[in-house]
Amino acid sequence: MRIQGIEYEDLAGRFGTPLYVYDGEVLTDTVTELRSALHPALEVFYSLKSNPNISVFRVLRRGGARAEVSSLVELRTALAAGAKPEDVIFLGPGKSAEELGACLDVGVYAVVVESFDELDHLERLAGDRGVRQRVLLRINPACAISGSRLTMGGKPRQFGIDEKAVLDAGDLPSRYRHADVAGIHVYMGTRILDAEVLGKNTAYALDLAERVVRSTGIRLDAVDIGGGMGVAYFDGESDLDLADVVKELNPRIEKFATAHPGTRLILESGRFLSARAGTYVLGVRYVKESLGESFAVADGGTHHHMAAVGIGSFVKRNFPAVLLGRDGEERTRTGPISPQNVTGPLCTPNDTLLKQAQLPDLRPGDLIGVARSGAYGPTASPGLFLSHGYPAEVLVTEGRAHLVRSRDEPDDLMRKQHLYDQPSTPDHALEETQ
Ligand SMILES: *Cc1c(COP(=O)(O)O)cnc(C)c1O
Repeated sequence: MRIQGIEYEDLAGRFGTPLYVYDGEVLTDTVTELRSALHPALEVFYSLKSNPNISVFRVLRRGGARAEVSSLVELRTALAAGAKPEDVIFLGPGKSAEELGACLDVGVYAVVVESFDELDHLERLAGDRGVRQRVLLRINPACAISGSRLTMGGKPRQFGIDEKAVLDAGDLPSRYRHADVAGIHVYMGTRILDAEVLGKNTAYALDLAERVVRSTGIRLDAVDIGGGMGVAYFDGESDLDLADVVKELNPRIEKFATAHPGTRLILESGRFLSARAGTYVLGVRYVKESLGESFAVADGGTHHHMAAVGIGSFVKRNFPAVLLGRDGEERTRTGPISPQNVTGPLCTPNDTLLKQAQLPDLRPGDLIGVARSGAYGPTASPGLFLSHGYPAEVLVTEGRAHLVRSRDEPDDLMRKQHLYDQPSTPDHALEETQ
């Protein structure tokens, strides 16, 4: 199997396994298709949370994506990859003074505040600096629209301010001089595969924006309609059809943009932009049988790809996976297909990437690719479990492979530990207790 003409085996040989490989063409095509399909008034902001690799974002930015960030390092990543401050928004429920200060220093387009407490904090910090900072209020909507795997709204949440509390807040511009409240943000859920749900969420957010303007007197510089567009991972799921998304969103955006010509309209997207570009490549170390089932024990697992392992979901479902290559001239041999378990190196039974997946009989040295793995991979996994650390990441663009993140080496991980040796305990006392 190849990526832009390069054998995965060559990538594994050059960079080692386990390894994440990102296809720059897929990233570019995805962002380009999305942006050209959507109404031009709707700007696409990439959620770095889904894949914060600086070169991944660089490719998406070249394709016209802006940046939605939630930490100091994500902010620095976005700027270092060339995002302009006016195309960066910062959100997250527990921002530190340092993070808010960095937003003010940089002059990001907007800070999305998630509580009145935070708004007061930002007001003080901006006042101390003598600056004004545009703020969007994140609203916890009073109603939930079903169809998303993780639904926000209609429930007590640490995210955002309850819709009712915002609508009851009274005149906001007179109370905040440095925190310039000028828009709203609503994020209703993730993994949405139903265009109609996206349409309803959008309609809700746009209508809410107008209600908030009427009740609080804020300007409407921006409305962030969230996003949460999904990709299909499992049997029985299918990808969003962009034509359906267009049908649901564009008329609503057109109507709102005409009524509010100066308002920026923001769509946030993480998974939709990054997932399909990534493949998690692992190498099989050992194979064995246990009570009639085949196990291939590989070098990658939970610690890099918790989502594929599916901890937390009730029934284990497999991400799409393929045999990418194997040693020798039998590279292309597909062989008999049978159910195989692919497990990782961790000492926990949960470390099962593929359960009874239909794959050719596996052997040591085989390379397996877990597809659609570009979102919520290593950064959303317990990378330090069993002290393995972060895998290498490679970006393939224009037919060439580039290392875009180095694998954590043992020295990297040892360096962070500090040996404290109790001086009052003689060594022989230690030995006696062992
Ligand atoms: C996680 C998150 C996103 C990205 O969600 P995807 O489903 O990956 O597109 C966008 N906005 C907010 C507020 C989020 O928390």
